[in-house]
Amino acid sequence: MNKKGLLIVVSGFSGVGKGTAVKKLVSEYGYSLSVSATTRAPRPGEVDGVDYHFKTVEEFEKLIDYNGFIEWAQYVENYYGTPKQFVEDELEKGNNVILEIEVQGAMHIKEQYPDAVLIFITAPNAVTLKDRLFGRGTEDAKVIGKRLKRAYEETDDMMHYDYLVVNDDLDKCVQDLHAVITAESFKSDRNSEHINIMKSELTDIRKEFIS
Ligand code: 5GP
Repeated sequence: MNKKGLLIVVSGFSGVGKGTAVKKLVSEYGYSLSVSATTRAPRPGEVDGVDYHFKTVEEFEKLIDYNGFIEWAQYVENYYGTPKQFVEDELEKGNNVILEIEVQGAMHIKEQYPDAVLIFITAPNAVTLKDRLFGRGTEDAKVIGKRLKRAYEETDDMMHYDYLVVNDDLDKCVQDLHAVITAESFKSDRNSEHINIMKSELTDIRKEFIS
């Protein structure tokens, strides 16, 4: 029924497992995933163009100047941004696009795209979150400390999201994300075109029964 695709923003605390959940969601249900640009160094196993478009600060700032991002933000000393062209092309094709971005970026998206669906992935509790950050083994204690401080600040923004989904069990989390997106796509105000078509078709059909 929808002509344009849905823009779905997924945020969540650092270490909550949102990257894994989003990748599984995309591979199981065929959503389009926007690959962000960042000035952060690749982590082991990360591939340029797949996980991120890895950029120098100069390259990133040039893209800002050329209006190449629909939003960008600084997060723990690095730049992150959502490339404009890919997102707009996919929405135009009617594909549902997922952005996995942090809170400041999500708020900018909501301003520019009021129809966007905002989902925040949270942990069952704070100890689990801390344990997951240490368990990942990719950042030292100083960086983890910064990410936990940021998580604390992000609790103030959680109410601005349309949905909170808990990542306790990965499969359940992915199913819940898909359920939320599916329900959103059926909302009557997202399907006003269908209502108009039904009305106009019924206008003609009912005439056959008027004697
Ligand atoms: P990480 O360094 O752990 O991959 O990502 C750090 C944070 O940046 C995460 O919360 C991630 O969702 C966010 N992020 C990734 N890409 C973007 C983006 O394009 N824009 C914004 N605003 N945040 C992003």
